[in-house]
Amino acid sequence: MSGGNTESVDACTRFCAVLGHPIRHSASPAMQNAGMASLQLNWRYLAAEVLPRDLAAAIAGAKAMRFIGLNLTVPHKLLAVEMVDELEESARRLGAVNTIVFETRGPDGEWLPLGLAAEDGAAEVRSHGFNTDADGLARSLQEEFPTLKLRGASVVLLGAGGAARAAAMRLAAEGVAQICIVNRTAEKAADLMAEVRARYPAVTPSFLPDAADLVINATSLGLKADDPSPISANWLKSSRAQRAYDMIYRPAETVFLRVARSAGCETANGLGMLLHQGAAALELWSRQTAPLHVMRAALRKDIYG
Ligand code: NAP
Repeated sequence: MSGGNTESVDACTRFCAVLGHPIRHSASPAMQNAGMASLQLNWRYLAAEVLPRDLAAAIAGAKAMRFIGLNLTVPHKLLAVEMVDELEESARRLGAVNTIVFETRGPDGEWLPLGLAAEDGAAEVRSHGFNTDADGLARSLQEEFPTLKLRGASVVLLGAGGAARAAAMRLAAEGVAQICIVNRTAEKAADLMAEVRARYPAVTPSFLPDAADLVINATSLGLKADDPSPISANWLKSSRAQRAYDMIYRPAETVFLRVARSAGCETANGLGMLLHQGAAALELWSRQTAPLHVMRAALRKDIYG
Protein backbone atom coordinates (compact mmCIF):
# COMPACT_ATOMS: atom_id res chain seq x y z
CA MET A 1 0.00 0.00 0.00
CA SER A 2 1.23 3.46 -0.79
CA GLY A 3 0.50 6.68 1.05
CA GLY A 4 -0.42 7.43 4.63
CA ASN A 5 -3.88 8.00 6.02
CA THR A 6 -4.73 11.57 5.08
CA GLU A 7 -8.09 13.27 5.27
CA SER A 8 -8.65 12.76 1.55
CA VAL A 9 -9.54 9.57 -0.25
CA ASP A 10 -7.63 8.85 -3.46
CA ALA A 11 -7.57 6.16 -6.13
CA CYS A 12 -5.28 3.98 -3.99
CA THR A 13 -7.49 4.11 -0.89
CA ARG A 14 -8.71 0.65 0.17
CA PHE A 15 -11.80 -0.05 2.25
CA CYS A 16 -13.10 -2.10 5.14
CA ALA A 17 -16.64 -1.91 6.50
CA VAL A 18 -18.92 -3.11 9.26
CA LEU A 19 -22.25 -4.50 8.05
CA GLY A 20 -25.22 -4.59 10.40
CA HIS A 21 -28.85 -3.71 10.98
CA PRO A 22 -29.18 -1.33 12.72
CA ILE A 23 -25.67 0.12 12.30
CA ARG A 24 -25.94 3.83 13.02
CA HIS A 25 -24.89 3.40 16.68
CA SER A 26 -21.64 1.63 15.75
CA ALA A 27 -18.43 3.02 17.25
CA SER A 28 -16.30 0.72 15.08
CA PRO A 29 -15.63 3.31 12.31
CA ALA A 30 -14.18 5.78 14.85
CA MET A 31 -12.02 3.07 16.44
CA GLN A 32 -10.81 1.46 13.20
CA ASN A 33 -10.15 4.69 11.30
CA ALA A 34 -8.03 5.93 14.20
CA GLY A 35 -6.12 2.62 14.22
CA MET A 36 -5.58 2.67 10.44
CA ALA A 37 -4.40 6.29 10.53
CA SER A 38 -1.96 5.45 13.32
CA LEU A 39 -0.55 2.58 11.23
CA GLN A 40 -0.19 4.98 8.26
CA LEU A 41 -2.44 2.85 6.10
CA ASN A 42 -4.31 4.46 3.22
CA TRP A 43 -7.39 2.52 4.28
CA ARG A 44 -10.84 3.70 5.39
CA TYR A 45 -13.46 1.91 7.45
CA LEU A 46 -17.14 2.43 6.62
CA ALA A 47 -20.43 1.38 8.20
CA ALA A 48 -23.19 -0.01 5.98
CA GLU A 49 -26.81 -0.70 6.86
CA VAL A 50 -27.45 -4.15 5.37
CA LEU A 51 -30.58 -6.26 5.77
CA PRO A 52 -30.13 -10.01 6.29
CA ARG A 53 -31.68 -10.72 2.87
CA ASP A 54 -28.92 -8.60 1.25
CA LEU A 55 -25.96 -9.94 3.26
CA ALA A 56 -24.67 -12.41 0.67
CA ALA A 57 -24.81 -9.73 -2.04
CA ALA A 58 -23.03 -7.22 0.23
CA ILE A 59 -20.19 -9.68 0.98
CA ALA A 60 -19.89 -10.55 -2.72
CA GLY A 61 -19.84 -6.84 -3.61
CA ALA A 62 -17.09 -6.08 -1.09
CA LYS A 63 -15.07 -9.02 -2.46
CA ALA A 64 -15.55 -7.83 -6.03
CA MET A 65 -14.44 -4.33 -5.03
CA ARG A 66 -11.40 -5.80 -3.31
CA PHE A 67 -12.20 -4.53 0.12
CA ILE A 68 -9.54 -5.45 2.68
CA GLY A 69 -12.12 -6.99 4.98
CA LEU A 70 -15.44 -6.75 6.78
CA ASN A 71 -16.83 -6.86 10.29
CA LEU A 72 -20.30 -8.26 10.86
CA THR A 73 -22.58 -7.34 13.69
CA VAL A 74 -26.20 -8.04 14.73
CA PRO A 75 -27.97 -9.83 13.04
CA HIS A 76 -25.38 -11.20 10.58
CA LYS A 77 -22.83 -13.22 12.57
CA LEU A 78 -24.59 -16.58 12.31
CA LEU A 79 -25.81 -16.10 8.73
CA ALA A 80 -22.31 -15.31 7.45
CA VAL A 81 -21.00 -18.78 8.40
CA GLU A 82 -22.65 -20.15 5.23
CA MET A 83 -21.47 -17.24 3.08
CA VAL A 84 -17.67 -17.29 3.31
CA ASP A 85 -15.31 -19.37 1.16
CA GLU A 86 -13.21 -20.50 4.13
CA LEU A 87 -13.91 -20.71 7.88
CA GLU A 88 -11.16 -20.37 10.45
CA GLU A 89 -11.33 -22.70 13.47
CA SER A 90 -12.58 -20.02 15.92
CA ALA A 91 -15.53 -19.17 13.67
CA ARG A 92 -16.31 -22.84 13.04
CA ARG A 93 -16.29 -23.64 16.75
CA LEU A 94 -18.49 -20.69 17.66
CA GLY A 95 -20.76 -21.03 14.63
CA ALA A 96 -20.46 -17.27 14.07
CA VAL A 97 -18.33 -14.93 11.94
CA ASN A 98 -17.60 -11.36 13.05
CA THR A 99 -14.56 -10.69 10.81
CA ILE A 100 -13.93 -11.46 7.15
CA VAL A 101 -10.45 -11.17 5.65
CA PHE A 102 -10.36 -11.02 1.84
CA GLU A 103 -7.30 -12.93 0.70
CA THR A 104 -5.37 -13.55 -2.49
CA ARG A 105 -2.44 -15.75 -3.43
CA GLY A 106 1.05 -14.52 -2.55
CA PRO A 107 4.19 -15.16 -4.64
CA ASP A 108 4.58 -18.69 -3.22
CA GLY A 109 0.95 -19.60 -3.70
CA GLU A 110 0.03 -19.06 -0.03
CA TRP A 111 -3.12 -17.09 0.88
CA LEU A 112 -2.33 -13.52 1.98
CA PRO A 113 -4.61 -10.74 3.28
CA LEU A 114 -5.46 -8.49 0.33
CA GLY A 115 -4.08 -5.55 2.26
CA LEU A 116 -0.60 -7.07 2.03
CA ALA A 117 -0.73 -8.20 -1.59
CA ALA A 118 0.40 -6.32 -4.67
CA GLU A 119 -2.47 -4.81 -6.67
CA ASP A 120 -3.67 -7.28 -9.30
CA GLY A 121 -7.23 -6.80 -10.47
CA ALA A 122 -7.32 -10.25 -12.07
CA ALA A 123 -6.04 -12.26 -9.08
CA GLU A 124 -8.27 -14.82 -7.38
CA VAL A 125 -9.82 -13.57 -4.10
CA ARG A 126 -11.43 -15.60 -1.33
CA SER A 127 -13.36 -14.60 1.80
CA HIS A 128 -12.02 -16.06 5.06
CA GLY A 129 -14.29 -15.92 8.12
CA PHE A 130 -12.96 -15.48 11.67
CA ASN A 131 -14.44 -14.82 15.09
CA THR A 132 -12.57 -12.39 17.34
CA ASP A 133 -15.39 -11.82 19.88
CA ALA A 134 -14.36 -14.57 22.30
CA ASP A 135 -10.73 -13.44 22.33
CA GLY A 136 -11.93 -9.87 22.82
CA LEU A 137 -13.91 -10.90 25.89
CA ALA A 138 -11.04 -12.96 27.35
CA ARG A 139 -8.56 -10.11 26.93
CA SER A 140 -10.96 -7.58 28.38
CA LEU A 141 -11.66 -9.76 31.45
CA GLN A 142 -7.92 -10.12 32.04
CA GLU A 143 -7.43 -6.36 31.79
CA GLU A 144 -10.41 -5.38 33.94
CA PHE A 145 -10.11 -8.05 36.63
CA PRO A 146 -6.40 -8.85 37.03
CA THR A 147 -7.04 -10.95 40.15
CA LEU A 148 -9.61 -13.18 38.42
CA LYS A 149 -8.34 -16.68 37.62
CA LEU A 150 -10.70 -18.23 35.08
CA ARG A 151 -9.30 -21.72 35.63
CA GLY A 152 -11.46 -23.27 38.33
CA ALA A 153 -13.78 -20.25 38.55
CA SER A 154 -17.53 -20.29 39.06
CA VAL A 155 -19.27 -18.10 36.46
CA VAL A 156 -22.86 -16.96 35.96
CA LEU A 157 -23.74 -16.14 32.36
CA LEU A 158 -26.90 -14.11 31.72
CA GLY A 159 -28.21 -14.76 28.20
CA ALA A 160 -28.00 -17.53 25.63
CA GLY A 161 -27.71 -15.63 22.33
CA GLY A 162 -24.71 -15.31 20.03
CA ALA A 163 -22.52 -13.33 22.44
CA ALA A 164 -23.35 -15.64 25.37
CA ARG A 165 -22.48 -18.65 23.21
CA ALA A 166 -19.05 -17.18 22.36
CA ALA A 167 -18.51 -16.39 26.06
CA ALA A 168 -19.60 -19.83 27.29
CA MET A 169 -17.32 -21.67 24.86
CA ARG A 170 -14.36 -19.44 25.63
CA LEU A 171 -14.86 -19.64 29.40
CA ALA A 172 -15.10 -23.42 29.18
CA ALA A 173 -11.93 -23.50 27.07
CA GLU A 174 -10.20 -21.41 29.76
CA GLY A 175 -11.05 -24.12 32.30
CA VAL A 176 -13.80 -22.59 34.43
CA ALA A 177 -15.17 -25.20 36.84
CA GLN A 178 -18.84 -24.19 36.96
CA ILE A 179 -21.14 -22.28 34.63
CA CYS A 180 -24.68 -21.21 35.50
CA ILE A 181 -26.55 -20.01 32.39
CA VAL A 182 -29.67 -17.92 33.07
CA ASN A 183 -31.87 -16.88 30.16
CA ARG A 184 -35.39 -15.56 29.57
CA THR A 185 -36.05 -18.53 27.28
CA ALA A 186 -34.93 -21.31 29.61
CA GLU A 187 -34.81 -23.88 26.80
CA LYS A 188 -32.06 -21.93 25.02
CA ALA A 189 -29.99 -21.84 28.21
CA ALA A 190 -30.36 -25.62 28.55
CA ASP A 191 -29.36 -26.15 24.90
CA LEU A 192 -26.29 -23.94 25.30
CA MET A 193 -25.27 -25.72 28.50
CA ALA A 194 -25.64 -29.09 26.75
CA GLU A 195 -23.43 -27.86 23.93
CA VAL A 196 -20.77 -26.65 26.37
CA ARG A 197 -20.85 -29.98 28.23
CA ALA A 198 -20.59 -31.96 24.99
CA ARG A 199 -17.40 -30.11 24.10
CA TYR A 200 -16.00 -29.53 27.59
CA PRO A 201 -17.27 -32.36 29.86
CA ALA A 202 -15.24 -31.11 32.84
CA VAL A 203 -17.44 -28.03 33.17
CA THR A 204 -20.20 -28.55 35.74
CA PRO A 205 -23.57 -26.87 35.19
CA SER A 206 -24.68 -24.99 38.26
CA PHE A 207 -28.18 -23.77 39.07
CA LEU A 208 -27.64 -21.55 42.08
CA PRO A 209 -23.99 -20.71 42.63
CA ASP A 210 -23.17 -19.99 46.24
CA ALA A 211 -19.93 -18.14 45.41
CA ALA A 212 -19.78 -16.69 41.89
CA ASP A 213 -16.38 -15.33 40.89
CA LEU A 214 -17.88 -13.57 37.90
CA VAL A 215 -21.33 -12.67 36.55
CA ILE A 216 -21.51 -11.66 32.86
CA ASN A 217 -24.47 -9.90 31.28
CA ALA A 218 -24.70 -11.13 27.69
CA THR A 219 -28.37 -10.23 27.27
CA SER A 220 -29.59 -7.14 25.42
CA LEU A 221 -31.23 -5.90 28.63
CA GLY A 222 -29.71 -2.52 29.32
CA LEU A 223 -29.47 -1.37 25.71
CA LYS A 224 -32.64 0.72 26.15
CA ALA A 225 -32.65 3.53 28.71
CA ASP A 226 -35.70 2.18 30.60
CA ASP A 227 -34.60 -1.49 30.68
CA PRO A 228 -34.55 -3.13 34.11
CA SER A 229 -31.45 -4.92 35.38
CA PRO A 230 -31.36 -8.55 34.19
CA ILE A 231 -30.74 -9.61 37.79
CA SER A 232 -31.40 -8.16 41.26
CA ALA A 233 -28.93 -6.98 43.89
CA ASN A 234 -30.37 -9.60 46.25
CA TRP A 235 -29.65 -12.39 43.76
CA LEU A 236 -26.09 -11.13 43.39
CA LYS A 237 -25.67 -10.92 47.16
CA SER A 238 -27.11 -14.38 47.75
CA SER A 239 -24.77 -15.85 45.12
CA ARG A 240 -21.88 -13.95 46.78
CA ALA A 241 -20.92 -12.53 43.37
CA GLN A 242 -17.45 -10.97 43.31
CA ARG A 243 -17.30 -9.34 39.88
CA ALA A 244 -19.82 -8.18 37.30
CA TYR A 245 -19.09 -7.64 33.60
CA ASP A 246 -21.66 -6.12 31.23
CA MET A 247 -21.07 -6.64 27.51
CA ILE A 248 -23.08 -3.44 27.03
CA TYR A 249 -20.90 -0.31 27.23
CA ARG A 250 -23.34 2.54 26.68
CA PRO A 251 -23.89 4.18 29.20
CA ALA A 252 -20.56 3.60 30.96
CA GLU A 253 -22.41 2.40 34.06
CA THR A 254 -25.30 0.29 32.84
CA VAL A 255 -28.30 -0.55 35.02
CA PHE A 256 -26.81 -4.02 35.64
CA LEU A 257 -23.47 -2.55 36.72
CA ARG A 258 -25.21 -0.05 39.02
CA VAL A 259 -27.10 -2.87 40.72
CA ALA A 260 -23.93 -4.98 40.89
CA ARG A 261 -21.95 -2.15 42.45
CA SER A 262 -24.67 -1.73 45.08
CA ALA A 263 -24.30 -5.47 45.81
CA GLY A 264 -20.56 -4.98 46.43
CA CYS A 265 -19.23 -6.34 43.11
CA GLU A 266 -16.19 -5.09 41.24
CA THR A 267 -17.59 -3.97 37.86
CA ALA A 268 -16.56 -3.41 34.22
CA ASN A 269 -18.43 -2.69 31.00
CA GLY A 270 -17.96 -4.17 27.52
CA LEU A 271 -15.86 -1.39 25.98
CA GLY A 272 -12.72 -3.50 26.32
CA MET A 273 -14.41 -6.43 24.55
CA LEU A 274 -15.33 -4.13 21.65
CA LEU A 275 -11.80 -2.75 21.58
CA HIS A 276 -10.03 -6.10 21.60
CA GLN A 277 -12.29 -7.79 19.03
CA GLY A 278 -11.68 -4.79 16.75
CA ALA A 279 -7.94 -4.73 17.38
CA ALA A 280 -7.76 -8.45 16.55
CA ALA A 281 -9.62 -7.79 13.27
CA LEU A 282 -7.21 -4.99 12.32
CA GLU A 283 -4.29 -7.32 13.06
CA LEU A 284 -5.79 -10.00 10.80
CA TRP A 285 -6.19 -7.50 7.94
CA SER A 286 -2.81 -5.77 8.33
CA ARG A 287 -0.61 -8.34 10.13
CA GLN A 288 0.63 -5.43 12.24
CA THR A 289 0.22 -4.86 15.98
CA ALA A 290 -2.91 -2.79 16.52
CA PRO A 291 -2.34 0.57 18.27
CA LEU A 292 -4.53 -0.23 21.26
CA HIS A 293 -4.15 3.08 23.08
CA VAL A 294 -5.15 5.07 19.98
CA MET A 295 -8.12 2.83 19.28
CA ARG A 296 -9.27 2.89 22.91
CA ALA A 297 -9.09 6.70 23.04
CA ALA A 298 -11.09 6.96 19.79
CA LEU A 299 -13.73 4.60 21.13
CA ARG A 300 -14.05 6.47 24.43
CA LYS A 301 -14.38 9.79 22.61
CA ASP A 302 -16.98 8.43 20.19
CA ILE A 303 -19.07 6.74 22.86
CA TYR A 304 -18.73 8.95 25.93
CA GLY A 305 -17.81 12.29 24.28
P1 NAP B 1 -28.74 -12.01 20.67
O1 NAP B 1 -28.13 -13.19 20.00
O2 NAP B 1 -29.91 -11.34 20.04
O3 NAP B 1 -29.14 -12.48 22.17
C1 NAP B 1 -29.89 -11.63 23.01
C2 NAP B 1 -30.00 -12.23 24.40
O4 NAP B 1 -30.65 -11.29 25.25
C3 NAP B 1 -30.82 -13.51 24.48
O5 NAP B 1 -30.32 -14.32 25.51
C4 NAP B 1 -32.21 -12.97 24.84
O6 NAP B 1 -33.02 -13.91 25.51
C5 NAP B 1 -31.84 -11.88 25.81
N1 NAP B 1 -32.87 -10.85 25.88
C6 NAP B 1 -33.26 -10.00 24.89
N2 NAP B 1 -34.25 -9.20 25.34
C7 NAP B 1 -34.51 -9.58 26.63
C8 NAP B 1 -35.44 -9.14 27.60
N3 NAP B 1 -36.31 -8.16 27.35
N4 NAP B 1 -35.42 -9.73 28.82
C9 NAP B 1 -34.52 -10.73 29.09
N5 NAP B 1 -33.62 -11.20 28.19
C10 NAP B 1 -33.62 -10.62 26.97
O7 NAP B 1 -27.67 -10.84 20.88
P2 NAP B 1 -26.09 -11.00 21.10
O8 NAP B 1 -25.38 -10.78 19.84
O9 NAP B 1 -25.87 -12.24 21.88
O10 NAP B 1 -25.79 -9.71 22.02
C11 NAP B 1 -26.15 -9.71 23.39
C12 NAP B 1 -25.63 -8.45 24.05
O11 NAP B 1 -24.21 -8.41 24.04
C13 NAP B 1 -26.11 -7.16 23.35
O12 NAP B 1 -26.41 -6.21 24.33
C14 NAP B 1 -24.89 -6.74 22.55
O13 NAP B 1 -24.87 -5.34 22.36
C15 NAP B 1 -23.76 -7.17 23.48
N6 NAP B 1 -22.49 -7.45 22.75
C16 NAP B 1 -21.41 -6.68 23.07
C17 NAP B 1 -20.20 -6.92 22.42
C18 NAP B 1 -19.00 -6.07 22.77
O14 NAP B 1 -18.03 -6.07 21.99
N7 NAP B 1 -18.99 -5.38 23.89
C19 NAP B 1 -20.09 -7.92 21.46
C20 NAP B 1 -21.21 -8.70 21.18
C21 NAP B 1 -22.42 -8.44 21.83
P3 NAP B 1 -33.98 -14.91 24.69
O15 NAP B 1 -33.11 -16.05 24.29
O16 NAP B 1 -35.03 -15.27 25.65
O17 NAP B 1 -34.49 -14.14 23.50
